[in-house]
Amino acid sequence: PAKKQLGQHFLADKYYVEKIVLAVDPKGDDRLVEIGPGQGAITFPLLRRHPKLTVIEFDRDLIVPLTEAAAPLGELTIVHSDVLRVNFTELAAGGTIRLVGNLPYNISSPILFHALDHAAAISDMTFMLQKEVVDRMAAGPGSKVYGRLSVMLQAFCEVKALFVVPPGAFRPPPKVDSAVVRLVPRDPATVGINDRKRFADVVRAAFGQRRKTLRNALNGVIDQTQFEAAGVRSDARAEQLEVADFIRLANLPHE
Ligand code: SAM
Repeated sequence: PAKKQLGQHFLADKYYVEKIVLAVDPKGDDRLVEIGPGQGAITFPLLRRHPKLTVIEFDRDLIVPLTEAAAPLGELTIVHSDVLRVNFTELAAGGTIRLVGNLPYNISSPILFHALDHAAAISDMTFMLQKEVVDRMAAGPGSKVYGRLSVMLQAFCEVKALFVVPPGAFRPPPKVDSAVVRLVPRDPATVGINDRKRFADVVRAAFGQRRKTLRNALNGVIDQTQFEAAGVRSDARAEQLEVADFIRLANLPHE
């Protein structure tokens, strides 16, 4: 039986499994790492295409079945751990990994932020999560759902929503639509953020009070006299700014 607290909704529709495998399109010596393999819905088809795979699974009851079913297909390395405790940079061991996963929806945002911390070790990510979250990830200025998640992810990655997956494709079905998204981390040299923590603080403060003007929302964070230097109007609201505007605001000299 599926464990609700672990966000277990197993993909049961082969059409969507195939779509995900095609979206990943493993090649040559790609180092694939799957988050939350569950009962192997995506794992085994991937392993048939690409006979070397690492998976990270928290549920100990799934480890033996995964090991046994994978044995005839290829070389499956199972990391039995909470994915939030896995150091992707160490896992990549000087190279880069490709992340894949039908994520546990209850911790999808923490997983995304965890991946951002290790973006330099990740060449791309193909994730399934709640459609509502994918909409926020990919939204641009002016959209109702444009917010902290959009800006944080788009600053460090190219974000592309791929396709929607209905609840009926899963056992048990989740309450909401799902969607598959591709994230490609940008070259760290071109991101242009001087201080990642400062950037995160500015974005959080700006959207923390998204209906206020920036002058008010960023009071105490950005000096009132400095908006002009960043080319940003202080009477604008966070939801009107481009990602590049947030980067310029965060790069302003501050105490
Ligand atoms: N990939 C499978 C599929 O598509 O059928 C399962 C997807 S299910 C939505 C999420 C999986 O993540 C479950 O197998 C669950 O046990 C696992 N999981 C939940 N929390 C986890 C965590 N913190 N670290 C690693 N895996 C986790």
